[in-house]
Amino acid sequence: MAFLGLYALQHRGEEAAGIVSYDGRDTHVLKKVGLAVDNFDEENIRKLTGHMAIAHTRYSTTGSPNMKNIQPILVTHRKGHIAVAHNGNLTNTDELYAKLENEGSIFQTSMDSEIFVHLLAKTPNGDMAQWLIKVFTQVKGAYSLVLLLKDYLIGARDPQGFRPLCLGKLGDGYILASESCAFDLMKAEFVREIEPGEIVIIKGNQLESVYLPKPQPAAHHAYCIFENIYFARPDSRIFGDNIYQVRKRLGAQLAIEHPAKADFVMGIPDSGLYAALGYAEELKLPCEMGIVRNHYIGRTFIQPTQFLREFRVRVKLNPIRDVIRGKSVVVIEDSIVRGTTSRSRIDEIREAGAKEIHMRISCPPIVSPCFYGIDFPSTGELIAHNKTVKEIADFIKVDSLGFLSLEGMLSVMKDKGSFCSACFTGKYPTQIPKNTDKLKLEL
Ligand code: AMP
Repeated sequence: MAFLGLYALQHRGEEAAGIVSYDGRDTHVLKKVGLAVDNFDEENIRKLTGHMAIAHTRYSTTGSPNMKNIQPILVTHRKGHIAVAHNGNLTNTDELYAKLENEGSIFQTSMDSEIFVHLLAKTPNGDMAQWLIKVFTQVKGAYSLVLLLKDYLIGARDPQGFRPLCLGKLGDGYILASESCAFDLMKAEFVREIEPGEIVIIKGNQLESVYLPKPQPAAHHAYCIFENIYFARPDSRIFGDNIYQVRKRLGAQLAIEHPAKADFVMGIPDSGLYAALGYAEELKLPCEMGIVRNHYIGRTFIQPTQFLREFRVRVKLNPIRDVIRGKSVVVIEDSIVRGTTSRSRIDEIREAGAKEIHMRISCPPIVSPCFYGIDFPSTGELIAHNKTVKEIADFIKVDSLGFLSLEGMLSVMKDKGSFCSACFTGKYPTQIPKNTDKLKLEL
């Protein structure tokens, strides 16, 4: 079941994956660099015996991509085993590293997630709920995580709820997963989302919820809007909404704000397709699949080097010349980050014979880095940080370019006031780490 979960959630991280299971006496571990779907074979999975497991797919935001940095992190301790799988980035890491190292902690990885293990080991544990509350109140920033602690499966979501975390049920057993699409594959039932600030303590078929104290001054919810725009799968339900429907609404709003006259609308697969449907529907234009995706390749940005990124861009998508030749097209993309991928895509569409290319983006320009778990490049590499919309249009070489407005984007969200949009505004919902460079932060 944990492996099926990784299968469904593979898009959340393609660098590495791991599973830790527990059979009531021993823990069993399987960790591999690369895709779980390619690298976990049946023989290895069979060795993961037990009645409980947690698993993780890695997308590095802190910590280099190496074997040491594969989650779940597992340690054996006098309190029993502690295994952690964490999604998100913490924002008070400098402070916590300094404190913990002064007190004698020796870190084995360069992931902020390891902090949880040290805090769990150090904090006196009487009552389970009180123990967990004491640990989580020391941590700031974004975390949706799952823990295996002896016979307990724990799920926790930070009080602002940056990252999603969902609860499912299969027979008598509970399941936690970042996105609800994992439950579909397991034929499990989606029960609800874990609330911001909620800790669920699961033992056998019993589930107890406890809540972290509300931060003072009261912090608002800060769901990551980029999950809606790009990161999560369209068949998932997170933040109280279905991602496919949200993306269609973003596309419709984009059409209202930036209509274009063209023969047809085409989305860049996969993430631009849903907004393209909404855009076309709103303007009553045909929507064509002008570009075909090669399915034997994953997301391009996750590979860390520029060379691999560029190669994968070309190998991944191919325009259909017979559809595009001589036509005016509206090309929909979910977002522009560096601008380099979009530029090559537009080049290819032009080479395929497009007469006019109008590009529309289903979110505002990304101008600021993320400290909560989306791996945007440094500020200097964010094209919209340095260029106006007109300059970006010139760089990408399109006839016109339009970005969805911040207000327009938020207007189509069900829970409008609950999102973090810091990548578009530079207004962060928490204090941000002083040392803001990702690599420096890691060192
Ligand atoms: P580019 O034109 O090079 O900015 O590439 C844009 C495409 O990469 C869009 O589909 C983005 O949504 C996607 N992308 C998503 N997340 C990231 C990221 N963290 N870094 C770079 N590109 C990303």
